[in-house]
Amino acid sequence: MHLTDHSTPACKRRLAIIGGGPSGLRAAEVAASEGMDVALFERMPSVGRKFLVAGKGGLNLTHSELLETFATRYSGEDQAPDFWPRALENFSPQMMRAWADSLGVETFRASNGRIYPTALKAAPLLRRWVSRLKENGVQFHLNHRCCGLEQDEHGFLIHFENGTTHACDVVIMAMGGASWPRTGSDGSWMTFLTALGIPCSPLLASNCGWGHAWPEAIVAEIEGKPLKNLLVTADGKSVHGELLITRYGLEGGAIYQLGSALRKMAKPEITIDFKPTYSEAELIRKMESARGDLLDAAIERWRLSPAAAAILRRDSWPNAAALASGVKHAIFRLTQPQPIAEAISSAGGVAWKGLDESLMARETPGLFFAGEMLDWDAPTGGYLLQGCFATGTLAAQAAAQFGVAPAKESR
Ligand SMILES: Cc1cc2nc3c(=O)[nH]c(=O)nc-3n(C[C@H](O)[C@H](O)[C@H](O)COP(=O)(O)OP(=O)(O)OC[C@H]3O[C@@H](n4cnc5c(N)ncnc54)[C@H](O)[C@@H]3O)c2cc1C
Repeated sequence: MHLTDHSTPACKRRLAIIGGGPSGLRAAEVAASEGMDVALFERMPSVGRKFLVAGKGGLNLTHSELLETFATRYSGEDQAPDFWPRALENFSPQMMRAWADSLGVETFRASNGRIYPTALKAAPLLRRWVSRLKENGVQFHLNHRCCGLEQDEHGFLIHFENGTTHACDVVIMAMGGASWPRTGSDGSWMTFLTALGIPCSPLLASNCGWGHAWPEAIVAEIEGKPLKNLLVTADGKSVHGELLITRYGLEGGAIYQLGSALRKMAKPEITIDFKPTYSEAELIRKMESARGDLLDAAIERWRLSPAAAAILRRDSWPNAAALASGVKHAIFRLTQPQPIAEAISSAGGVAWKGLDESLMARETPGLFFAGEMLDWDAPTGGYLLQGCFATGTLAAQAAAQFGVAPAKESR
């Protein structure tokens, strides 16, 4: 593709961003600061609807753990091993906090290391962000649903469902995944991107509950009750955390973190250790001289929660050793993940093998991608928004450099 030398300020290069979620807004912010002429297109009547939904849970912006650990939270088929360390160094969790601060939004670190705005709300942050983007020249085009794009020697022509088109030099797509489609991100871009030859992996529910066939009596007794301080294992991966019993199965941080492992299992199942701080031998020792109902004694001596006790009461236990083993290795067959529309996020999307290290499509120079529509996955904990901001930053920095003629060397 031939692009004319637009490197002088008199001829600002035109960037179109498709999608007004956090990834697209962040890309707009970075590209505008790099001097690009930025037009942002959003299919809904307003931007940032899923960001506002995230605000209902307090808006967990990022996490305070060390960057090396942080980078290990992300997974994705064919990702370069250095991608996340590089992207997170380029836009780090500290930079996320400084960014919020620059909008007059103070953040705090919760006891579990997660970072939230002190007001635990997204709306004030979004309002100030959008008005700053407008002041910096970003043009917003709402009710514009992208349905395709063409490329020729002059650049791109983007098509919208309302019959309009838009010509530009560079494009960043940030149309999100497919969870909570009522917020605008329904994953329908997959159809036109696949037709354009952009490799994509199917979108799958992530950070979601999984089905388990509880006996009706158990549901009646413990639906909505938490199981705390667990060690939960799937496919050799173990995580500490909590679960919540639901009518259809299980929800909660522990199962969200195991989503990618569970999706790989032909017969998904988890093993719960209800008492991870004690060994089996220690549990058995605590039962010495126990009289009467074995489980009643264990509830008291091992401090089992009502939900754990109700689950264990489904079986009969001949002795303390069998009960200790059951408490340490309780296996639960899972049926399927909850529907993608109800999930917190989606895995799958634009495949890494079709992208270069700057998130540009290898076969379509000048077309970049950012955010949840890329084929990465991460658990809740602030990793999703941090990933969206980091990829939005990276794509916009690369978009600003794309087609710029290198400065001539002085003699
Ligand atoms: C209930 C809930 C709670 C969450 N809480 C948190 C949290 O606390 N912390 C965290 O890190 N993450 C959280 N998330 C996840 C986080 O909100 C998402 O990962 C993030 O919003 C994804 O950003 P994005 O910009 O990539 O996509 P989106 O936010 O989905 O934005 C994509 C935008 O593109 C638009 N669009 C789609 N298709 C088109 C098209 N064809 N043409 C034009 N526009 C289009 C959509 O309307 C949408 O506005 C939560 C999600 C949910 C559902």
